[in-house]
Amino acid sequence: MGRPGYLTLPIFSVLAAIGYVYYTTVFVAVAGWLGLATAAGVANAAAFTALAAACLATYAVAVCRDPGRVPPAFLPDVEDAETPVHEVKRKGGDLRYCQKCGHYKPPRAHHCRVCKRCVLKMDHHCIWINNCVGHENYKIFLVFVLYAVTASFYSMILIIGSVMHSAPKDEQSGSDSSKTSIIICGVILCPLTLALTFLLGWHIYLILQNKTTIEYHEGVRAMWLAEKGGDLYHHPYDLGVYENLISVLGRSIFCWFCPVSNNTGNGLRFRASYDLTSSKPAM
Ligand SMILES: [Zn+2]
Ligand SMILES: [Zn+2]
Repeated sequence: MGRPGYLTLPIFSVLAAIGYVYYTTVFVAVAGWLGLATAAGVANAAAFTALAAACLATYAVAVCRDPGRVPPAFLPDVEDAETPVHEVKRKGGDLRYCQKCGHYKPPRAHHCRVCKRCVLKMDHHCIWINNCVGHENYKIFLVFVLYAVTASFYSMILIIGSVMHSAPKDEQSGSDSSKTSIIICGVILCPLTLALTFLLGWHIYLILQNKTTIEYHEGVRAMWLAEKGGDLYHHPYDLGVYENLISVLGRSIFCWFCPVSNNTGNGLRFRASYDLTSSKPAM
């Protein structure tokens, strides 16, 4: 509901880019440099194929998986004395309520204008997956970006290797079509690698603080307002680096970069730094 469909131009462009980069890397760069009949050629082709398949699989899950829906019967836990007031209420004191959906909003949930519904722990709406990035698909989105960055750098190394290999030879080596493929692939890869690396770095920075992109922007404003009032702003979900990593990537450190979704919690209630201080004895 609310999704225009899977075959959008950005999704088609991503699939076309993956296909083109894969074809050129394996069948032009590796084939021309190492050859697909040598051990080194087969090993590199197999490793790159596995990485490309992992990219495609995680991309498909990020596109298809529901980012997190507010249950129809959801009611904010206002009676719970442990729940910090601002988690469930707006600044004015009203409970967080979505007029468009007609239900209460859990902490960190936001209404997406494109998806036309509220999304749990919404990070942002991504046009490249035509889906929101939220509580349920954040980790797989992140793992996809990590695999895509790794594949991009790997592809670049193989392409640079093949160019260096063919350069010392005379003008006859390598057909014009393979040279053109390599150039087009380079033109696609350079901005793509730069953008993906920046995106990965940005999300690692956010995870270390347990912030979503929306909360980062809200935090900048809150910090400015707090400073104006002579206060210090503290992001309520910042539990410390290790706890922040666990809450997004899962308990097992060995599965942090595996494409399994084992983020903690149901997306309706989140541990806040107040919970940590309230559970510890007073100093
Ligand atoms: Zn809504
Ligand atoms: Zn959305």
